[in-house]
Amino acid sequence: MRTALRMSNVYAPTLREDPAEAEVPSHRLLLRAGMIRKVAAGIYAFLPLAWRSIAKIERIVREEMDAIGCQELLLPVVQPAELWHESGRWDLYGPELARLKDRAGRDFCLGPTHEEVITALVRDEVRSYRQLPMSLYQINVKFRDEIRPRFGLLRGREFIMKDAYSFHATQESLQEHYDAQSRAYGRICDRLGLVWRAVEAESGQIGGKVTTEFMALAETGEAELVHCACGFAANVEAAEALLEGRPRCTEPEELRKVHTPGLRTIADIAQTFGLDERDTVKTMAGSTEDGRLVFFCIPGDRELNPVKAARAVPGVRLLDEEGFEQHRIPKGSLGPVSPPEGAIVVADRSLRHERSWVVGANEEDYHFFGADPERDFTVDVWADLVAARPGDLCPRCGAVLEGARGIEVSQVFQLGTRYSEKMNATFTDEDGQERPFIMGCYGVGITRSLAAVIEQHHDDAGICWPVSVAPAEAIVLPLSSDDEVVQTAERIFETLADAGIEAVLDDRDERAGVKFADADLIGWPYQVVVGRKGLAEGVVEVKHRATGDRESVPVDEAVARVRTLVESQRS
Ligand code: ATP
Ligand code: MG
Repeated sequence: MRTALRMSNVYAPTLREDPAEAEVPSHRLLLRAGMIRKVAAGIYAFLPLAWRSIAKIERIVREEMDAIGCQELLLPVVQPAELWHESGRWDLYGPELARLKDRAGRDFCLGPTHEEVITALVRDEVRSYRQLPMSLYQINVKFRDEIRPRFGLLRGREFIMKDAYSFHATQESLQEHYDAQSRAYGRICDRLGLVWRAVEAESGQIGGKVTTEFMALAETGEAELVHCACGFAANVEAAEALLEGRPRCTEPEELRKVHTPGLRTIADIAQTFGLDERDTVKTMAGSTEDGRLVFFCIPGDRELNPVKAARAVPGVRLLDEEGFEQHRIPKGSLGPVSPPEGAIVVADRSLRHERSWVVGANEEDYHFFGADPERDFTVDVWADLVAARPGDLCPRCGAVLEGARGIEVSQVFQLGTRYSEKMNATFTDEDGQERPFIMGCYGVGITRSLAAVIEQHHDDAGICWPVSVAPAEAIVLPLSSDDEVVQTAERIFETLADAGIEAVLDDRDERAGVKFADADLIGWPYQVVVGRKGLAEGVVEVKHRATGDRESVPVDEAVARVRTLVESQRS
């Protein structure tokens, strides 16, 4: 399709000032470049230039999905509660699920994801292993009533997602398609111009065990990652923590009970006794669903990872003030030596590396010193409880892990039979047996990806779009209303468009400074600057927005030059 946009006719209300509400570059620049406007918290209108970029992202995603045999369809946004009752998620999903009633009082929700709808669709039609595997996708609006919508498109409440779902007769078939989806996701990230990592992750609300997140690296990302030169990378929520071996005391010490009046925190104890915080054990108390006390014991200088805690004791909740009173335990002096009767003690396995620890004595104002895990601790479960962090060791190769922040742009999951069993979605296998479908699901945040691209591609003046995502590829800037300037600019613009370049002409009656500022702000990859001075010498200037490189090009060669540059960057 020929693209020839005239700025006089483009609805892109640019802003000179930074909008106060925008905390991250993508949010600020999408607003300033006149690409999005807020309609309500986390709900945006996409203006024409943003919509052009979104269409390009969608095209890349479609190409990659079609290439692996995934078929496009469209599912409804409004979904009946019955399906969510079947999967059990009506009660599990919580307030992120926007619920509504129709005029007859029947319950519905706005789809935050579509496992239920697709499983119901397939269960009613696909009966035999001969029809498998099958993989379906849609590109659609999702609604999640996020507790803290922020950062513009990075965490919205209404956003666009590509979601795919696959159905298999065997685990091998699922694995094969999961790998194909993962490779497609890597190619999508590459084609969007993202610097990214595939990381081991947690599956959250979606369920399932095997899952990978694709993270665009960015300082502004909400996710914390650890990664290693060997290729290992993980979300700290999920990363196995291998704490550095830190031999301190090889000789067993005697267990001593020490009076520690008023010392309630790890920092208090460490400071008063001249210890390192890592010489102490931090014990956090929780309770199970049926009210049993749980102790989580970790090294004093580390944080408990709530996901790992919940994995060790499903349904556990950490105690609030009331809880401490109820269980009558001294908040500042808890520990794994002589724990209260009936308490479940879960201790981080790294505590076993050392012999001598300072731990709470489960008695107000007392601690034990010299506590030996094997000799003195009462532990029910040794587990990995600590949130991994940079400086820990790589669980694959033992090298020191580095840290980074990332934006989760996409995620793939092996769901197994999590939905098909609950929803009774079965097929007949080769032996005539009824079996539940083995499923996978695969999501790309389309609008989040748009923002992630900007997080990685911008400078002080504005956005620096990669060609693959730019609203258009090149803009022609006539710097004056001089006839020759205007006519040359028109000719280059039309010829560019004829040559298949997505072309823009800044035909507005604006000063050169305004045109430059808007072109840099909106971030068209290439600018063709047509001025009187240049034309006197028979040249125009071609500027590459991202690098700032400028070249003087004879007027007649301008189109060919831009075409070569653009085509070398398309993906
Ligand atoms: P997060 O952990 O960031 O809340 P998620 O893991 O819940 O995201 P998924 O269920 O994996 O999200 O959804 C697939 C993709 O949809 C995500 O990788 C992300 O790109 C996108 N996405 C999810 N939530 C949002 C949101 N609130 N705003 C924009 N995009 C989102
Ligand atoms: Mg996710």
